[in-house]
Amino acid sequence: MNVPLMDLTAQYAALKSEIDEAILSAVAGQRFILGPEVETFEREMSEYLGVKHAVGCASGTDALLLPLKALKATEGYDVIVPSFTFFATAGAVWNAGFRPVFCDVDPETFNVTAESLEKVWTERTVAVVAVHLFGQMAPMREVRALARSRGAFVIEDTAQAIGAKSIEGMAGTVGDAGSFSFFPTKNLGGYGDGGLVTTDDDDLADAIRKLRVHGGKRMYHHESVGFNSRLDAIQASILRVKLPYLNGWADARRVNAQRYYEGLAESDSVRTPVVTEGNSHVYNQFTVRVGGGRRDELRQFLADRSIGSGIYYPVPLHMQDCFRDLGGREGDLPVTEALCKEVLSLPIFPELGESRQALVIDAIRSF
Ligand SMILES: *Cc1c(COP(=O)(O)O)cnc(C)c1O
Repeated sequence: MNVPLMDLTAQYAALKSEIDEAILSAVAGQRFILGPEVETFEREMSEYLGVKHAVGCASGTDALLLPLKALKATEGYDVIVPSFTFFATAGAVWNAGFRPVFCDVDPETFNVTAESLEKVWTERTVAVVAVHLFGQMAPMREVRALARSRGAFVIEDTAQAIGAKSIEGMAGTVGDAGSFSFFPTKNLGGYGDGGLVTTDDDDLADAIRKLRVHGGKRMYHHESVGFNSRLDAIQASILRVKLPYLNGWADARRVNAQRYYEGLAESDSVRTPVVTEGNSHVYNQFTVRVGGGRRDELRQFLADRSIGSGIYYPVPLHMQDCFRDLGGREGDLPVTEALCKEVLSLPIFPELGESRQALVIDAIRSF
């Protein structure tokens, strides 16, 4: 039996008639870019999250770029991002015109902490991007308190954490702006690219609505130079079908996670991820640490048994070639650098099933 890291075919099979019908009706509507289907989805998302504004855009990357662009001040200012995250977090900061400043993460949750942000804070820091990595929220109370005390803006990179919660509230509704991705493998995935920005701030929402259509409210009148970054009706129609199932899928992911926690509790080879108190994790990834320099060996061992796994992420962002001029060096951020050598993500998708998951657990135990 083959155990893929991720398989979207079972989800499509279960929803095929609903999704096919939604796509055809979006095509029949002939309003392809933004329009009523997108507006309805935006309303449904703002209700689901309990946030005032939800603004669709072209991707999760743009959902980071647009609120950063709305900050206006760029030249000579810094934005802090974790070094241990998907590249887009830092890429968006760069493309918005800021200098990305990289911070380390907590070794157990893989997330930023107020201390890790404070360590790299500069006079020029105007914003921080708190990434809710793998589906668990970063400690937002502390992050927000630090940012507030220094007058900095907080963006939550919620690409991997839609539906996650903490005592502070739903992921993406706690900072000044939340950035969501509908890339197909996210917990709420479209059939193409898509993204969404959330905020309770009327002016910010207004600015983002303008920026996504070339910087103007009225066609052919431009107050600023914006972008072409819009959600399309076909994606919105698919996402509207899927949204009511999202919490159920997160429950299924949590059931799978529980099986890993039990099955791997005695394992000497892997350390399972820590969920902090009050957090509801949505497990976009179930990422373990493999010690003793044996991560790649375990990955090959699993591959030999037709078990898929993933490495998120193999290279720290402060050590990427494109950021070399920023001065990041090996040794700067020891937790991130260790994680890049040790992390391994295991199959966790909702339709995985107990028997296939047992193969993964047995294989790791025998390793
Ligand atoms: C997927 C992802 C993004 C970017 O989303 P896209 O829709 O692929 O542009 C940004 N940040 C994180 C942490 C992600 O996982």
